[in-house]
Amino acid sequence: MPRKRTNKKGLKRTVIVEIIVDKRIHDVLLSIANILAMAYNEINYMRRRLFFDKKLTPEAMRQTYNEVYRKYADEYKTADGHCLLGSDTLQAVLNLSDDNWRAFFMLLKEKEVLPSWFEVNPPGYSKSGKRRIPFIRLKSRQWELSGDTIIIKGVPAFGLRAVLKIKGGVHWSGERGELMLRYDIDGKKWYAYMQFYGTEKLYSDGWRTVPLPLPGSGIAGIDLGVNNLFAVYSITSDGRHVSALFNGRPLKSIWFYWKHKISMLQSLLSGLRTSRRFRLMHRKAKMQMKNYIDRQIRKLYRWLREHGIGTVLVGLPHDIVHREGNEFTERIWMYGYTLKRLKEVAEEEGIEIRFIPESYTSSTCPLHGRDCGKRILRGLFKCTKLGKVFNADLTAAYNILARGISITPSPRKRDRGNGLKTQPEAESKKCGSKPPRSGGNSRPLRRGGGQFVESIYHHKQLRF
Ligand SMILES: [Zn+2]
Repeated sequence: MPRKRTNKKGLKRTVIVEIIVDKRIHDVLLSIANILAMAYNEINYMRRRLFFDKKLTPEAMRQTYNEVYRKYADEYKTADGHCLLGSDTLQAVLNLSDDNWRAFFMLLKEKEVLPSWFEVNPPGYSKSGKRRIPFIRLKSRQWELSGDTIIIKGVPAFGLRAVLKIKGGVHWSGERGELMLRYDIDGKKWYAYMQFYGTEKLYSDGWRTVPLPLPGSGIAGIDLGVNNLFAVYSITSDGRHVSALFNGRPLKSIWFYWKHKISMLQSLLSGLRTSRRFRLMHRKAKMQMKNYIDRQIRKLYRWLREHGIGTVLVGLPHDIVHREGNEFTERIWMYGYTLKRLKEVAEEEGIEIRFIPESYTSSTCPLHGRDCGKRILRGLFKCTKLGKVFNADLTAAYNILARGISITPSPRKRDRGNGLKTQPEAESKKCGSKPPRSGGNSRPLRRGGGQFVESIYHHKQLRF
């Protein structure tokens, strides 16, 4: 079923809050959410089968939509023949499947330029392990936020309107998007995922319009790493070279702490039914890591703003070191989350962010180029011509900056707000072996520049 795409203004954000429910509301929510999750899983099952048979045409997309819609609308009817779930509600769930398939087809087209660790899979099912995850999705006109309550309309099974109390504040304001009510089967709680096209955000000093004003015309290269979560090398608008390192070691500690704890418990409780407990522990570990990443990202953008940086170039790791099992999965998850948050906060801060493929950035000498130097022990890079040793992560950040500038002649005049899709990745690969040109006529960045040596060799950078 084709539908109009509305172009709403603002930054698309999802605010997640817990909903407080009594037994009666819980029971009603759960039965509706179970039926809708079944509808979602059913349409995705049909579409996956067609996709693997290479038969998922736009026509088949429409047919499956209509088929599942009719089936569920007929099966769950009120006495006077209306859809008990609300026709909007049923459509919203099927539209979610449409959205996810559309996103999947778009990613498929971009697969070649995406990093090798980035997996592109067809949309799956709403489930955890073998259990279905019940959820309800509502269109923007079906809900409202009023103080600490969500008011829901247009779901006949709820009655005329339902009022749900939420826990915690909402730090975004703007036009409403969809609302998802999801039951967490492990934590046994209900959560509301409220979508906003945010134009204002609540900061520690009050509400501010986003995006914030552009901090300046400086430009920075950022290398993502393990020991240093971010290594930043930047050139301010007045031509100064400044760098900073943001610690990543606590993330490793959090991960090892939980890994140890889980494996100890696993050996003690072997054979007992404890999978829910382990899932909850994994979730806690993830939450702690997310909080740490968020804190470091806030510090990073504060630093960038203080130095008047208006453009950041982030190295996109193409190969993540392959390790056994969980650690590899965990690393991919962390990279994905970090990149997503870097992009979102950049949008809010009014800073342009671009992703630069990272091949060779950690094996290129900042002074002499590709044929000189290598990464040596303990995060150091050695220039073999001069026999000098630099911080390896800052060397990579410098190379990302140099590459970013060399593929974009005039970094200040670009359109703002372009995402991953529009970056000239293919073109930039060719630049790997060439020494980077200085950016237009304005960027004082060349190999052999004495400033690089000063800011990295003497370890003047700040550590966070
Ligand atoms: Zn060298």
